[in-house]
Amino acid sequence: MADVLRTYSEENLKQVVTDLGQPSYRVKQLVEWLFVHPVLSYDEMTNLPASFRKALKERFPLLPPRIYNRQISRDGSRKYVLQLDDDSLIEMVAMPQEKDRLSVCLSTQVGCPLQCIFCATGREGFQRNLRADEIVDQVIIAQNDFNMRVSHVLAMGQGEPFLNYDNLMDALHVLNDPHRMAIGSRHITISTSGMIKGIERLASEPDQFTLAVSLHAAIQSLRDKLMPKMASQPLDMLHQALITYYKKTRRRFTLEYVLIDKVNDSPACLEALIDFCQYLHCHVNLIPLNDTGDEGFKPSGSRTLNQWQNTLIQHHIETTVRNSRGADIMGACGQLKNSL
Ligand code: SF4
Repeated sequence: MADVLRTYSEENLKQVVTDLGQPSYRVKQLVEWLFVHPVLSYDEMTNLPASFRKALKERFPLLPPRIYNRQISRDGSRKYVLQLDDDSLIEMVAMPQEKDRLSVCLSTQVGCPLQCIFCATGREGFQRNLRADEIVDQVIIAQNDFNMRVSHVLAMGQGEPFLNYDNLMDALHVLNDPHRMAIGSRHITISTSGMIKGIERLASEPDQFTLAVSLHAAIQSLRDKLMPKMASQPLDMLHQALITYYKKTRRRFTLEYVLIDKVNDSPACLEALIDFCQYLHCHVNLIPLNDTGDEGFKPSGSRTLNQWQNTLIQHHIETTVRNSRGADIMGACGQLKNSL
């Protein structure tokens, strides 16, 4: 694996600067170029001497993804297809919201091994995990393209973040570190399909990152059909892991539920979800399915969505209906499949 400076702490950078015979004030300059006003190449680090840049280039090549394609949605979101240094492609979506708020939904893997049947990414197969710098660079690309600071990060794009746990955490530490990219930990969300080991590991981390769990069905047999690779992580064990997560962290988490017409939106499904939420300190996000080009699946109607939301609220379960952004450019949840 390439040794990429983008994931170095200030301490490590001090060592690099000393080893290359540079004065100590170069550390501050490097931190500035790598994290505070980040650029993607050494050539842009104009206040560093050419000899130092050359040495850095040779010892620590920066290998940023390049924008292969960019589409702009009617709602202002931008979807990027990014080409990595081994030519594989990933997608990232940036969503400007109110003033000063720019959220990035980033990928953690090239493709995804989990093959959830309603998800375009899952149908593309899996190639490899992303390196930590490739995860961080997605944020930098969005930041530079919008010319504004990224305020929120969602590890919710292509891939299952907990299957790339170590690289993900390395990247999130760069994004969160007040001396590096300084994005508040509560503005960083990790979305898992329900990997129990990952939830347990996250519960024991000191970081305050937010957890979201894609549930999509609270009836085991139905969930096994929708998310076949998750059958080894049964709902009762997931439920227990989430109770323990809250006990340890005192942090509420989100359950994501994509509503698919006549698939997982029956009264029995709703009842099962209410049961699942018992003893959990959670918030439920109901998301109407986005078009993934599969004729078999349609989003639930607005009446169903409203009825689910009202019933859940009556059961004292905080619930939001979340309409995904960027659907017209296939940039919404479940639609990411490197289409141009
Ligand atoms: S929904 Fe998420 S976990 Fe499932 S296949 Fe798609 S990207 Fe992977």
